[in-house]
Amino acid sequence: MKFAVVDGIRREAAPGLIGTCPGCEAPVIPRCGAIRLHHWAHRSTVLCDPWREPETEWHRAWKNHFPIEWQEVWHRAADSVVHIADVKTLSGSVLEFSTLQSQ
Ligand SMILES: [Zn+2]
Repeated sequence: MKFAVVDGIRREAAPGLIGTCPGCEAPVIPRCGAIRLHHWAHRSTVLCDPWREPETEWHRAWKNHFPIEWQEVWHRAADSVVHIADVKTLSGSVLEFSTLQSQ
């Protein structure tokens, strides 16, 4: 994920920071290597959003077309499962960017 909570503020991953997952509140650590996009990862293999896809540059670039406050908005579905909306607009529209092709 692009954002985690650090000292009460949403921040992008950077070396040395310790963050909290906005969804499950578990600790997350910054991954800032040279190959993949900088991102936050859960310490355990727990994936708190079952719909989550690995973030690609394509995915991140689409999110970056929108204001930061609209990106990665967490919400709880009626079945109480937590999901991250790639983008949620002020009017409540949710956008999901996916490389999966529909038929
Ligand atoms: Zn989480």
